[in-house]
Amino acid sequence: MSKYKLPNKPFEYQNFINGEYINSLSNEIFERKSPAHGNLIGTYQLSNKQDTEQAISVAKKAFKSNYWSDMAGSDREKIIRKAASIIRERAHELALIETLESGKPISQSLDEMEWAAGIWDYAATLARHIAGDVNTNLGKDMTVMLQKVPIGVVAMITPWNFPLLIISQKLPIALAAGCTAVIKPSEMTPGTTLLLGGILKEAGLPDGVVNILAGYGDPVGMTLSESNNVDMITFTGSTDVGKHIMRAASGNLKKVALELGGKNPQIIFPDANIDALIDAVVFGVYFNMGECCNSGSRIIIHEDVVEEFQEKVVAHSKKVKLGDPLDPSVKFGAIINKMQLDKIKKYVDSGTAQGAKLLLGGNQITINNGNYFEPTIFTDVKPEMEIACEEIFGPVLSILTFKTRKEAIEIANSTPFGLSAGVWTKDLDTAMIMTREIDAGTVWVNNWMSGNPEIPFGGFKQSGIGRELGPGAIDEFMETKSVMIKTEVSNGSWV
Ligand code: NAP
Ligand code: MG
Repeated sequence: MSKYKLPNKPFEYQNFINGEYINSLSNEIFERKSPAHGNLIGTYQLSNKQDTEQAISVAKKAFKSNYWSDMAGSDREKIIRKAASIIRERAHELALIETLESGKPISQSLDEMEWAAGIWDYAATLARHIAGDVNTNLGKDMTVMLQKVPIGVVAMITPWNFPLLIISQKLPIALAAGCTAVIKPSEMTPGTTLLLGGILKEAGLPDGVVNILAGYGDPVGMTLSESNNVDMITFTGSTDVGKHIMRAASGNLKKVALELGGKNPQIIFPDANIDALIDAVVFGVYFNMGECCNSGSRIIIHEDVVEEFQEKVVAHSKKVKLGDPLDPSVKFGAIINKMQLDKIKKYVDSGTAQGAKLLLGGNQITINNGNYFEPTIFTDVKPEMEIACEEIFGPVLSILTFKTRKEAIEIANSTPFGLSAGVWTKDLDTAMIMTREIDAGTVWVNNWMSGNPEIPFGGFKQSGIGRELGPGAIDEFMETKSVMIKTEVSNGSWV
């Protein structure tokens, strides 16, 4: 029997503002039901525009008073590292909340808590490496100091698919840089992000540096995007909302960082070992029930090997254990909500209507009172079909074929997205040419979805702006100030 259970009564959450857990100004709340069970599992503060403005002003005041950014990097490091260790200590509690709110398998939630903690560890090391630069190569009287200074108040808006992991790709790095923050998690999965407030307080973070509010995109996300008191907004979510945020951010030209959707191709050449790659393909498309920006949802395979591939991918997909995500042996849980379930069904209908052939799945399934959908595979998919070029965000694999390398590149680059891509081949020339030709922020050769805090992540084209993670991530949250110092008082002889 699983030790992970539905709570007897729903968890009650408050906003975290200025170091305290408080109710929203209206005292109104909203609810979340487990998408895997249908039971009420959490209540959260329904924040409005005034709550959001209050949180922004607290973050602004904290930034202006400099107590966080003036601390030695080694002191910020200790607090960020301590947060990592508390996330690890509370991993089971946090993972349970994520599974209850999102429907993802508990074993996966636990893995994500460790990934998240690993990023906090990495960010802690970055806090000590901010040093700027000096230029003494501009003539004997001139010395230039390039100072790295934190950008200011950073608003962070996150989606529901990897709640703690995605905020952990932003917040610890911004904190390492000396910024302050206002955070709005998705209304579907706010629990662990709200608990981060208490974790950070326990770790020693001064009050006001991080402020977290639950609520909807409209008004909380919109108020953050429009505010003249926010200096940068970092958003992960859909491409449509990303565009909206960018327009809203133009009022004060705040810096915008966007991590958006993908329709990621996996290109399989005829020399690849199908037996060796089949597990990565199945993982790539069904991980997080396909609700993953990195979903490997488009297989582009050489026509000579498509039959062998189809047989093996169907057989392997049937082995994926589907069911109650609280069962530690389950790999595939529930879909986030009814709306997403309907969207997946709509795409399955569209695939059939546009002439693709359904090889596996295609149906909703009934387990508990939850939202479940079968692993689904389409073949005979053409590049112009909706299921080949739009982000479904569900467990639907599209198989397309190619004859020549040139054609494979054209198909791979034929969507508005450019987040990630995979190439499977034993041939070095083919691999190298493909990595140069594919428009994507990450290209995996003979693997799928590897990632480390040390490696930058982000998208080309409409998959985003900027990069998270990697040693350069901290620069995204900093301005460079060029301080030019002349040792002679005179400025020269202009007149
Ligand atoms: P979403 O609908 O775009 O929502 C993301 C966040 O934006 C939520 O917190 C949402 O609030 C908020 N929001 C909605 N409308 C807003 C507005 N007008 N102004 C400001 N904020 C607003 O995305 P989602 O459905 O949660 O997540 C799925 C999407 O995220 C997919 O497209 C996926 O590809 C993308 N994603 C990308 C990455 C990456 O790293 N590239 C990673 C994960 C996910 P509510 O609470 O009201 O929804
Ligand atoms: Mg939404």
